[in-house]
Amino acid sequence: MTTPVPGHHHRVAVITGASSGIGAATARALHAGGYRVALLARRTDRINAIAAELGAGALPIAADVTDRPSLVHAAARVREMFGPADVLVNNAGTMLLGPFSSERRDDYRRMIGVNLLGAITATEVFLDQLTDGEGDLINISSVAGRTARATNGVYAATKWGMNGWSESLRQELLPTVRVTLIEPGVVDTELPTHITHDATRANVQKGYDAASVKPDEVAEIIAFALARPRHLSINEILLRPTTQTA
Ligand code: NDP
Repeated sequence: MTTPVPGHHHRVAVITGASSGIGAATARALHAGGYRVALLARRTDRINAIAAELGAGALPIAADVTDRPSLVHAAARVREMFGPADVLVNNAGTMLLGPFSSERRDDYRRMIGVNLLGAITATEVFLDQLTDGEGDLINISSVAGRTARATNGVYAATKWGMNGWSESLRQELLPTVRVTLIEPGVVDTELPTHITHDATRANVQKGYDAASVKPDEVAEIIAFALARPRHLSINEILLRPTTQTA
């Protein structure tokens, strides 16, 4: 994609964390549904490959949600190439579980920086574009935004935080922007592979191997919510593999 797309015939969706998992699946699903999609992530090799596979209407942009200037640059690039974004999917996230300990203080800062502050920053940066027409904000939270368990405290804190912030924004931004909170249970992605605490990583991986839903199945739900007529807003969706208990 080197030339701007004229006109406003397609809705424009920006997806953070589009290089893998739920974000990549959402980019594919929305592109298939006729959206122009901007794929934001740090791993440019991955987003370049996905955009090349999708072809016209897919724009990879290097961006780190913890680096505000990179988001400001991404916002300018989206506007230049596609026009203002209609949809922002706050999906970038990391799940660094483990027993609470000073040893994992860097993990705590990373999770709060990416999952919570990253979503807040991407939203304030893209907000003028979303409010330009009929906007949608999709916040990817988690079952961990509704239930806390031993060893997931700070991850849960980021997702509980997102839930509160998201509900507040829903009230502030209606009816111009619809805000939808998605709370998945176990989804088959690379998310658990980044856990730094070895025993926890092995244990969580067992749970992921036992039962999960596919990223495409979550993406389908996001596409469904976005496709509702403007007078209907799906505020919140909690989903799990059927056999997941907590
Ligand atoms: P993945 O690890 O596959 O995807 C995470 C994405 O976040 C990657 O594309 C990664 O891109 C991006 N990311 C991480 N750090 C940053 C950063 N600093 N700046 C920009 N992007 C970043 O996992 P999932 O697809 O599973 O996770 C997506 C979201 O879904 C997360 O918010 C997660 O909490 C949530 N979720 C996942 C569940 C699951 O079971 N898988 C369950 C419930 C919620 P890159 O590294 O290239 O920057």
